[in-house]
Amino acid sequence: MPDSSIITVGNELLSGFTQDANSSWLAARLFARGYPVRRITIVGDVDSEIVTAVREDLARRELARIFVCGGLGPTPDDRTYGALALALERRLHYDRPTGALMQGLMFSRGVAARRGTAELNAGNRRMATIPEGAAVLRNGPGMAPGLAFDLGGDRILFALPGPPHELQSIVEQLVLPRYLGGGTSPTVRELHYRLAPESAFHDVMRRLEAEYPDVSLGSYPQAQLGRLTIRATGIDADRVERAIEAVRAGVTAYQPG
Ligand code: AMP
Ligand code: MG
Repeated sequence: MPDSSIITVGNELLSGFTQDANSSWLAARLFARGYPVRRITIVGDVDSEIVTAVREDLARRELARIFVCGGLGPTPDDRTYGALALALERRLHYDRPTGALMQGLMFSRGVAARRGTAELNAGNRRMATIPEGAAVLRNGPGMAPGLAFDLGGDRILFALPGPPHELQSIVEQLVLPRYLGGGTSPTVRELHYRLAPESAFHDVMRRLEAEYPDVSLGSYPQAQLGRLTIRATGIDADRVERAIEAVRAGVTAYQPG
């Protein structure tokens, strides 16, 4: 079972000015594709913090896909390309095809006309200055490209842009079809209760944890709404089905809707 991890980068995420939308969106896709996320790390726009987070995930051999999200832009606080060069011990180089593509976009998006020049400025060139040996993932709606590093042994590290619509576009158009085959989609089964206390499920869930170590069982209350969801997930559909039916049968005082 291949696993994955996500590292999101940005001071604005750590200070709470911006809510991390990328990791939850990406985690849902990776889960559904059979590359479940084992950990999500948020770090600031600091080289050493990004490098440490990347190296930690690289050291975990079970992580077959590692996603570093954010910090690809044109300003000096966008440090992900540089930090990845450090973490992977690769040189940064100016990627001419990426620069040329950007120049084309400057015309088609009217930037060249507004600026009165098609020359790339320092910020633009920064977005085309990437670590060597990466496959470039074209950013349809944006400028800064995503990257895919083949680490060998069916392990791939990605860099993806921070703006959610850019990240989503690259993932849907390039990452899902090209890099996320081979996983097994899990089965998900839920029971929805009204006004059932979580504690009523303690004994049966305790027993099922031991009986179904291959099924993840969780209880998710929404107290304000008086709702309780019991969710079972796992690779073996039959086992997931049996586990969730055992919950239903094990709690007779409450009936799911
Ligand atoms: P960046 O290029 O990553 O520095 O960020 C570009 C824009 O995307 C900024 O407005 C960020 O706040 C936003 N952004 C970056 N990462 C995330 C994230 N994980 N969730 C939501 N917005 C983000
Ligand atoms: Mg940033």
